[in-house]
Amino acid sequence: MKVKVIPVLEDNYMYLIIEEHTREAVAVDVAVPKRLLEIAGREGVSLTTVLTTHHHWDHTRGNAELAHLRPGLAVMGADERICALTRRLAHGEELRFGAIHVRCLLTPGHTSGHMSYFLWEDECPDPPALFSGDALSVAGCGWHLEDTAQQMYQSLTKILDTLPPQTKVFCGHEHTLNNLEFAQKVEPCNDHVRAKLSWAQKRDDDDIPTVPSTLGEELLYNPFLRVTQWQQRRGSHCLS
Ligand SMILES: [Zn+2]
Repeated sequence: MKVKVIPVLEDNYMYLIIEEHTREAVAVDVAVPKRLLEIAGREGVSLTTVLTTHHHWDHTRGNAELAHLRPGLAVMGADERICALTRRLAHGEELRFGAIHVRCLLTPGHTSGHMSYFLWEDECPDPPALFSGDALSVAGCGWHLEDTAQQMYQSLTKILDTLPPQTKVFCGHEHTLNNLEFAQKVEPCNDHVRAKLSWAQKRDDDDIPTVPSTLGEELLYNPFLRVTQWQQRRGSHCLS
């Protein structure tokens, strides 16, 4: 499985996932269809499906145009508000693209119909991947716009409890620097936050994406996955 990371709009990510045996491709969150088709053409793959994480404009604005340009394209997601939707997915549903398996994980919080997609491949040593949209991001999570903070926390806990730590995290936005600056305020003594922040600053200087991270890494610096840790330490002071 090959994943093309495609930065679009101000700070969004669109992804093209390629099944390398069959050359079938699946896109996640199509914002700029012509750009996606250009890359699919260059890779020599056949784009059959769009997986949409949630209905917001910056994750779906290209669906209708892409469906027009590619008749027969399947546009999938969990929310009826997603434009050009051809198949509504349910939590726990599994899809298959050649050797690639997809498990659909409903992760409400940012929106009530937010779906994250967990992908793995048969007989492949590569780690699995999670396309987490605006649920989990590198060092942060999306705003809980349609559900409560508790609901968002439950979604993040569900991800952590069910997926292996080596899972690569491909999120919907490049918000890593801001997220880590917030993480440093929450946990000023956390060396992992400090190290990731200086790494992210370097990536930002060079204009290189900070995705993917892994779930195991997120556990070290993402304050929204470390609620119990920093609550326990609240009031303690850094020694260095
Ligand atoms: Zn959103």
